[in-house]
Amino acid sequence: MASFLKTYVLFFDRCQVKYIYTGRIKGDDSQEENMAETINSVRGMRDILPRETKIWQIVEREAFNVIEEFGFEEIRVPVVEELRLFQRSVGSFTDIVQKEMYVFKDKGDRLLALRPEATASVVRAYLQHQLHAKKRVTRLYYSGPMFRYDRPQKGRYRQFYQIGAEIFGGESPYFDAELIVILSRILNRLKVSHYSFEINSVGCDRCKIEYSNILQKFLILRANELCQDCQTRLRHNVLRVLDCKVVSCRDIIKDVPSIQQILCDGCKKHQQTIYNCLMNHNIQFIENSHLVRGLDYYTMTVFELKINGEETAVAGGGRYNNLVKDLGGPHTPAAGFAIGMDRLCDLVAPETKEGIEILVFFLGDKALQQGTILINNSRIEGIKLILDYNERSLKNHLKVADREEAKHVLILGDDELVENCFLYRNMKDGSQKHIKFDQFSNFLKGLKNV
Ligand code: AMP
Repeated sequence: MASFLKTYVLFFDRCQVKYIYTGRIKGDDSQEENMAETINSVRGMRDILPRETKIWQIVEREAFNVIEEFGFEEIRVPVVEELRLFQRSVGSFTDIVQKEMYVFKDKGDRLLALRPEATASVVRAYLQHQLHAKKRVTRLYYSGPMFRYDRPQKGRYRQFYQIGAEIFGGESPYFDAELIVILSRILNRLKVSHYSFEINSVGCDRCKIEYSNILQKFLILRANELCQDCQTRLRHNVLRVLDCKVVSCRDIIKDVPSIQQILCDGCKKHQQTIYNCLMNHNIQFIENSHLVRGLDYYTMTVFELKINGEETAVAGGGRYNNLVKDLGGPHTPAAGFAIGMDRLCDLVAPETKEGIEILVFFLGDKALQQGTILINNSRIEGIKLILDYNERSLKNHLKVADREEAKHVLILGDDELVENCFLYRNMKDGSQKHIKFDQFSNFLKGLKNV
């Protein structure tokens, strides 16, 4: 009997949950579909194919190495969290929470969300497992997919990947600077050089309130010219107006008073120390007094990593001194960053040095049986031995090797088996030689050292 699941797809309009679709999803009767029809990936969500994953692996390896060298430890947090975690951290009036979240109810009627970012989850875990009681300063890093129902375009996806790092328990501006130094190191290791940082301070609690009031007074005079979203922001979180991408709003934003003019001595000193530290590290940056970022939890430092001449950021971060407390923990100054992997990987050239791959063919059952064991027991790090178990003639095996542009081929036929050797063929120059089984390991090591 066909079973039907009733689903609710939710979205948020000014923080009120609405059901936008109450439909039926086909269950057991899905065989009714045209089975020959191919199914593509969901809009905004993409496959990362082997050519690209090679680059991703290099980027991940370098990024994790650098981050670990600074003493960060990995944390893995779930992809699904309670919706209210993001409402309370990212902010109920941010675009991310209002428009871009994947929200659903599970069978236990819990209101859940696919994470749009991971800082909130890391803070939740930090509190849930009382990591704050274990160390004065805790450095954690994470990686994985995030989900935002954004308008897909190049470099912007609905499922995208981030590597992030968070420092809990550090008040000093040197912690903020350390995060920027880490990002810069990662880019240098990946040989990406044409980048710089944009930095701003959104102020401590007092400065933030004072600046918000100034901004509100300024913008209210031109409220009619602001886009619909900014009119709401004007009432609920005026700083977010500075982040608006609508042309008419950008026109107004360029005239707003700068937060730099009203920062208190403490905020100014904090910012100046970061600048000095970055200059001492020869890291390029500019001050952008309009930078506020898309998440509400930031206090004082905010920064973005940009490739010269490009509008979108590869990474972003800042200080969030109130978030741990806002999520029910003790007062804990903290700071962090998130790198957009999809964007960073686009900047990295594929590795030119290819690893060694040897294609292995067998001629005959006995050769297949014994050769498989022999090969699997001789594997060494750094050389790929790729076995082809299909039955073909020698001529056809070599045709396959040609088509796959193999550089090294090993052949084991029943004749070779009697002689206890493989036939090795260098496909580049066509030369061939026999390799005795007891010399095979040495042969592989030799290939590796060429
Ligand atoms: P955020 O979490 O908004 O601070 O963003 C940090 C970084 O994640 C950005 O600088 C981007 O590189 C990346 N990012 C954010 N949203 C997306 C998206 N929709 N698609 C691809 N990358 C994204």
